[in-house]
Formats: sequence, C-alpha cells, structure tokens
Amino acid sequence: YNEIPTGFPVPGKTLIYDESQTIDLDKEPLHGGILVKVLVLSIDPYQRHRMHDPSIPSYFPAFTVGTPLENDGVGVVVRSENPKYKKGDHVYAMFPFQEYVVLRDAQARVIDNKEGLSWSAYVGVCGMPGKTAHHGWMEYAHPKVQKGDVVFVTAASGAVGAIVAQLAKAEGVKVIASAGSDEKVDYVRSLGVDVAFNYKKVSTREVLQKEGPVNIYWDNVGGESLDAALEFAAQKATFVICGMISSYNVDEPYNVKHLQQLVWREITFNGFLYTSLISKYADEFYKTMPGRVAKGEIKYKEHLVKGLENSAQALLDVLQGNNFGKSSIIVSED
Ligand code: NDP
Repeated sequence: YNEIPTGFPVPGKTLIYDESQTIDLDKEPLHGGILVKVLVLSIDPYQRHRMHDPSIPSYFPAFTVGTPLENDGVGVVVRSENPKYKKGDHVYAMFPFQEYVVLRDAQARVIDNKEGLSWSAYVGVCGMPGKTAHHGWMEYAHPKVQKGDVVFVTAASGAVGAIVAQLAKAEGVKVIASAGSDEKVDYVRSLGVDVAFNYKKVSTREVLQKEGPVNIYWDNVGGESLDAALEFAAQKATFVICGMISSYNVDEPYNVKHLQQLVWREITFNGFLYTSLISKYADEFYKTMPGRVAKGEIKYKEHLVKGLENSAQALLDVLQGNNFGKSSIIVSED
C-alpha cells in the first residue's frame, strides 16, 4: 500500500494489492516451502488498524508502505517442497494480496472440507470471524449466561455479529440485535433473534430501556451503542468487548458518558483478541463448526467481491457499513 491514511483509506490512493507480480509457476524457487494460488482473501476491519506509523507500538504489526496488504485467505497448493502439503491441497493461511504466494515457513492449515462448503466459508463463518465469535462467546459469555438473561449484539448482520447472535440464541436467552439498515435488520430477524432494530432510525437507548436490562453485551462498534449498553446494563453484567469499529477512522474518539456504571452495576469488561484463545478453542471449532454450518444449524451471509483490484473499495465498504455479510475477495475461482 502506498501511504498511511488519515481517516478512511482512499481506494486508488491507498494501493493494497500487487498487480505487478510475475511468476514462473514451474521454476519459482520454493526453498522447501509451497507455491499457493490464492482463491479467497478476507477483508476485515482490523486491516485499517494496521495502516499506521510502524514506530507506534500496536497489538498487530503495521503494514509496510510500498508492499501489498496481507490477510487470512484460502488457496490451493500448486507445487510443494514440504512433505506436509501436496499439490491440490486447499490451505488456510495469511497471504499477501497477490495471485500467487510462496510460503517458505508454511504454517498453513490444510482444509479437508469433508462438508463440501464453499472456500469462502473457510475465511468467514469457519475462519477468523467465526473463531472470534465462537472463541469469545465460549470464553466470556457461555460460562456466565443464565436462563432469562438478555443479550445485546451490535453489527449483528456482520461476519462476527451474526454468528454471536446465533450462538446466543442457541443458549435459549432473549437476544436484542442492532444493524445499520432495514434490510440488515430483516436478515438478523431471520436468524431468530427476539428484537432487531436499525440503530440509525431507532434510538439504541430507547430499545434497551424497553427490552433490557442487558446481562451480556457483545460490543462490535463502541461509541453510542456501548454507552447505551452501560446505561441499561443489569447488575453484574458481562461485557465482551470484541471491537469498536465506530472509532477506527475518526480522530476524536466518542466520549462515553456512562463509564461510572462499571462501578455501580459491577460490570465486568472482557476485552479480547481471538488469537489469544486459539490454542484453547480452535481444535474444537474446526471439529464442530463446518458440520453445524453444513447442517444449516449456523447460517451465514457473504459479501463476495470479485477481483484483487477491488480490495481497497471492499475494505472501505466494510469500514462504512456498505457490506452486507462477511466481506471477502474472490481472487480466483479455482
Ligand atoms: P462486519 O462484517 O460486521 O462489518 C463491519 C460492520 O460494522 C459494518 O457492516 C457496519 O454494520 C458496522 N459499522 C461500520 N461503521 C460503523 C459505525 N461507525 N458505527 C456502528 N457500526 C458501524 O465486520 P466484522 O464482523 O468482521 O467485525 C466486527 C467487529 O469485530 C469489528 O469491530 C472488528 O474490529 C471486530 N473484530 C475483533 C476481533 C478480535 O479478535 N477482537 C477479530 C475480528 C473482528 P452496520 O451497517 O450494521 O452498521
């Protein structure tokens, strides 16, 4: 990518893929690694976080100006010098945004796909956002959730939120879910939640005042939603702080007014990164989630964009709420 954006990244100015790659598929040196043809690349809000001055310490290293972005994806092995992988294997790994990639220290996970899901499902519901929802829910919400509880989920039509809403519903509790358009709200309702509303038209405060108090809040957005959840939290509520997308592209952070409720309502805040929970939950996730998805027990919606050249716009769309479902780039059909 070409420059560190201030505010929203600008497609055309902020180059995030490599269009200049030339590669000899038969002769490219692999140095004991694998050559992979990239099929699907994930587009995620956190990629904006990595567009910062590398001298500023961060939970995830900054992208390097002048190189393609990278993210999770699925590809197919073209050649292998590593006995763990063979030609034709489909693998899940972190890839730079280009058509072919040589992975030297291959940490790629081979996907057997017994369930016959689409490859894009493995970067969404069965990939990073699925793991985030599942691992975060299992670690912080599942041990606390009780009969009669009220759960509130934000960005509930999105990659993480839609899965959280379904995991919550599977616990038999009342689920309130917000999303940014009427169409998204209809979709969220179709997932079985009890109360779904468009936060751009209806005040989150008023919904929570009527439908709360909130025992478990899953935060994907921060800002006004977090504030309303604090204001209408139940005593000893659990907050799972997954993301705060409303603040990713603004200089002036939202000033949360009800933080003092942390004390009066004895609220537990659980900020987390899904990476810290992988060793505990990923094996169980890969054993169960693809099957649950194949059976239709867990539903998902995808926002698929064709062509690497549309990656920057796809990222901007996610940051502005113009995606409807898990956003991914289809780099190649196979
Ligand atoms: P989504 O697929 O939900 O896409 C992002 C959505 O966020 C948009 O569609 C939009 O939905 C909503 N949004 C965008 N801008 C705003 C805004 N200003 N205010 C409120 N909502 C906004 O993304 P993901 O499911 O991939 O990510 C959801 C959250 O989870 C993000 O905060 C992300 O950073 C976080 N995350 C955290 C991880 C972790 O390890 N902690 C790992 C992965 C993701 P709408 O139209 O409904 O507003």
